[in-house]
Amino acid sequence: MQKPKFKSAEILCVGTELLIGDIVNTNAAYLARRLATLGIGVYRQSVVGDNPTRLAEDLEAALARVDLVITSGGLGPTCDDLTKETVARVMGRSLSLHTPSLARIEAYFSATGRTMTPNNRKQAMMPEGATVFPNDYGTAPALAIEREDGKTVVMLPGPPRELEPIFCEQVEPYLHPRCDAILFSRNVQIAGMGESAVEAALPRALLESVNPTVAPYCVAGEVRLRVTARAADRASAAALCDEAVAQIRKTPVGAHIYGVDVASPEAALIAALADRGLSVASAESCTGGLIAKRLTDIPGASAVVAGGAVTYQTREKYALLDVSPDTVAKYTVVSEQVAIQMARGARAHLCTDLAVATTGYAGPDGGTAQDPVGTVYIAVDGACGTVCRRLSLSPLRDRAYIRTVAATNAILDVLHYLETKIAKNGEG
Ligand code: ATP
Repeated sequence: MQKPKFKSAEILCVGTELLIGDIVNTNAAYLARRLATLGIGVYRQSVVGDNPTRLAEDLEAALARVDLVITSGGLGPTCDDLTKETVARVMGRSLSLHTPSLARIEAYFSATGRTMTPNNRKQAMMPEGATVFPNDYGTAPALAIEREDGKTVVMLPGPPRELEPIFCEQVEPYLHPRCDAILFSRNVQIAGMGESAVEAALPRALLESVNPTVAPYCVAGEVRLRVTARAADRASAAALCDEAVAQIRKTPVGAHIYGVDVASPEAALIAALADRGLSVASAESCTGGLIAKRLTDIPGASAVVAGGAVTYQTREKYALLDVSPDTVAKYTVVSEQVAIQMARGARAHLCTDLAVATTGYAGPDGGTAQDPVGTVYIAVDGACGTVCRRLSLSPLRDRAYIRTVAATNAILDVLHYLETKIAKNGEG
């Protein structure tokens, strides 16, 4: 008889350190994403401390609600690691020694030159009828117990560097035969348009579509549209997403798309510069080197990123970038005119095809009535002239946010300059 499909799931993370906020629950986020790609709806995520009574209660409630419960944590050797024992009790199974697991644990200890203590045997005790997923990354094997009615509990070790590979390599193939659809997403990345403007520019039918769904969301300085489709296989789901992306490109949002599924603005910029065989330099004041850092985070940056100057004090803007004291006196150091001179100075000194500059007020102090904290001027200079814009972020935002968003915008401005002014062969 065919087993029932997994349509709904709950994620139950075990660990007192999660409850008290000592560690962040990254396992829940990871598992939710992976279950979505399998087409299994996650109905709840919960956290319970290392307390067998409360764990049993939560487990019983979850099993009454959904087809699949995934737990993380509490599989270790110590007496507060009680997930397996509690799940076995709730599902009416007794534990016995699983010799293949014991052999693996012994081999793991000898390979890592550590002494195995008697309590490590506890990790080789398995509920009867369990499916055991050997752990090549640590000592606690993962396991699954299936009830007669098909409801299943999968137990995973807590450390993400163990949980993630075990889930990908062994648990997904185990779940797959009982999944009847997969979800597939594309991320449409947009620059120079706010979230509400993006939403207003898209047809209602697209925003209200059920398959695929189109959901706008913001990440520091950018808007993204997550297009997600559900289908029987990956190719059909991808085709549904691609159709929606093509529709989005035809709207006014299309001109602001800087990438689909690209890793980051800096990755997109490095690829665009490499495509055109062009180089870039940076001249940074309020971003303090963030632009250079983010560009050089990308492998292959050395082919296109010449370097940069962090000119935090005004004196350095004069000395290193040829900013004119008269310009500063007339317009102040946070001004369009100074940003333009900084970009031109960097391009001239570093002999690059393009240069980007930032000057602004990152706060919490500083700013003027005209240019309050959150104001950043971003200039891009290249063979097709200099462009500059004033970025106006909320003064209520903290310093880290203002600097990050300013750097993102500066990187995206260079990309926009390339895409709108310079053809792929590098000619304007
Ligand atoms: P171990 O054999 O290491 O004891 P375990 O399965 O018993 O594994 P826990 O003791 O619950 O797991 O957690 C071990 C470590 O794994 C935690 O200290 C924490 O660093 C990490 N961890 C546990 N749960 C999570 C979670 N939900 N998200 C992120 N990290 C977690």
